[in-house]
Amino acid sequence: MSSSLTAEQLRSIAVEYGTPVYIYHANKITEQYEKLKKAFAPSSSRVFYACKALTNINILRHVRSIGCDVDCSSVNEVHMTLKAGFEPQRVLYTSNGIAFSEIEEAVALGVNVNIDSLSNLEKFGAKYGHSYPVGIRLRPNIMAGGHLKISTGHAQSKFGIPIEQIDEILALVSRYNIFINGLHVHTGSEIKDVEVFMKVADIFFELAAHFPELQFLDMGGGFKVPYKENEEGTDIGLLGEKVTAFIGRMRSAYNRDFQAWFEPGKFLVSECGYLVTQVNVLKQSAGTLFAGVNSGFNHLIRPMFYEAYHRIENISNPAGEKKHYTVTGNICETDTFAWDRELSEVREGDLLAFYNAGAYGYEMASNYNARYRPAQVLVKDGRTYLAGRRDTMEDLLRNQVEVL
Ligand SMILES: *Cc1c(COP(=O)(O)O)cnc(C)c1O
Repeated sequence: MSSSLTAEQLRSIAVEYGTPVYIYHANKITEQYEKLKKAFAPSSSRVFYACKALTNINILRHVRSIGCDVDCSSVNEVHMTLKAGFEPQRVLYTSNGIAFSEIEEAVALGVNVNIDSLSNLEKFGAKYGHSYPVGIRLRPNIMAGGHLKISTGHAQSKFGIPIEQIDEILALVSRYNIFINGLHVHTGSEIKDVEVFMKVADIFFELAAHFPELQFLDMGGGFKVPYKENEEGTDIGLLGEKVTAFIGRMRSAYNRDFQAWFEPGKFLVSECGYLVTQVNVLKQSAGTLFAGVNSGFNHLIRPMFYEAYHRIENISNPAGEKKHYTVTGNICETDTFAWDRELSEVREGDLLAFYNAGAYGYEMASNYNARYRPAQVLVKDGRTYLAGRRDTMEDLLRNQVEVL
């Protein structure tokens, strides 16, 4: 059974809650998590949802309830996940470029931590010595991922400690007797090629010799999901087989057990989400027919930020004659969602649904042009809930201080 919401379901939710509206289907998240559970042996793997993709507290609670752990990108996300009910040992904080005070805060909360700079590793050693286990985030100098802006492991990337500085890492570990329990690499997002993960595995295999207290090998996230029709995602079954074999090789070589850790964001929540908008205006100009919707990159920035492709469907007229439209928003910037896209005939007032809007959709939304961020609706087991209300003028003014 597929966990996709039908055009008819999306339409009726949009009519009930108004537009623009983000709609999330919890059962789809469960379905994606089950695929990972099936592919990776539970005794030798752990999955942490990279929650920066979507932090609505109901999504966090759902993820927790299905047994998935959580990865955070800021100490505020750590606080949110704890508030959502995650036990500290189920939370991982993979930092980058942060002040040491955030690491101290994470340690005080008792969560798992990955450190990504020599300077923070040194401060960590000086303060905690061997008393608190910590992982090291490495930069493997591997180019991978769907777009340069979402590639994080290459030789010009700011993320992780460059692997060529391993001697400096080892010197710090030895000087302060730091308890290194993990190695971490996240090469980027939309990685279809399983071999990228295997290259990382080879690096871990070699480096593990230097870290006798190592327990986990964290391969990050970045599994690709289909955005276009007939597009293929990462072959999770194949990845599972290869990772299980890798952990077996580690066990034979080092005579003890290791766990493979993963941090998928998009894989878990991209396809669960939809953004439904309404067409305000049609505008014909030489060669281009614009469909202007009541949204913009203030609600879904991925097309303008990453040249991302989001499938769009006219859910008000699915059987209409096919025509080409350039779909734009209503903010005072170029906010094109799709160029020259074939859609069923669009009329003013029609509802357009954007697919794959669960990951990095609402989470990257802003109030630019003093527009309200959309409402968020959660569908779970056939029931529909308002999971986040639309902004109001009060929300826009809440932090402003009237001094004049
Ligand atoms: C963003 C991020 C992820 C998740 O990436 P996806 O492409 O959404 O799977 C995982 N790990 C780290 C450290 C990240 O920064």
